Amino acid sequence: MTETLSGVTVVTHPLVQHKLSYLRDKDTPTVHFRKLANELTLLLTYEATKDFPTETDEIETPLERTEVQRIAGKKVAVCPVLRAGLGMLDGVLSLVSSARVGFIGLYRDEETLQPVEYYVKLPNDIAERDVLLLDPMLATGNSTAAAVETVKAAGATSIRLIALIATPEGIARIHRDHPDVSIVVASVDRGLNGKGYIVPGLGDAGDRLYGTK
Ligand code: URA
Repeated sequence: MTETLSGVTVVTHPLVQHKLSYLRDKDTPTVHFRKLANELTLLLTYEATKDFPTETDEIETPLERTEVQRIAGKKVAVCPVLRAGLGMLDGVLSLVSSARVGFIGLYRDEETLQPVEYYVKLPNDIAERDVLLLDPMLATGNSTAAAVETVKAAGATSIRLIALIATPEGIARIHRDHPDVSIVVASVDRGLNGKGYIVPGLGDAGDRLYGTK
């Protein structure tokens, strides 16, 4: 149910592809789009966390003592990139409820076309956490790469990016600048149009999540 292309996992599970088909549909209303984005993220989180190490513990069931596996090691920091990444947050938290949450606000400077940070609030101990970075549309990769730099500057060393849709150029950008970051997506689309939108894509993820257009 997954295809792995050098550092990118594309989740081909039927539930993921079914939900993605409705996210893409221009007639899907905001209320459904929001729910689908979170459900899809939950399923991608399941995949993104599959290599978390476990350790053996011993517990008592009502019947007898037995060995069980529990997640060992680092705790999790979930970091949505504002604003569209917020639409994925509940999907992660419904699986990893004890995670801490960090926020990264970026906008694009219309002259330089470069991402500019306007708000960052990260857990103090992010260096000791596995980071799940949430950015639904990995388009050019400029803003996602900037978000990765932000969490790295705060000390993070273990970073997984969860996106709904990526482009080959966005993936190449992250691979070039941050080869240590693994990527989990529901689809790798054809590319970008002249306005920087992913095609076929789903449109502007923020507008569709929050009904601002
Ligand atoms: N951001 C979006 O929300 N959609 C795109 O297609 C590209 C970037």
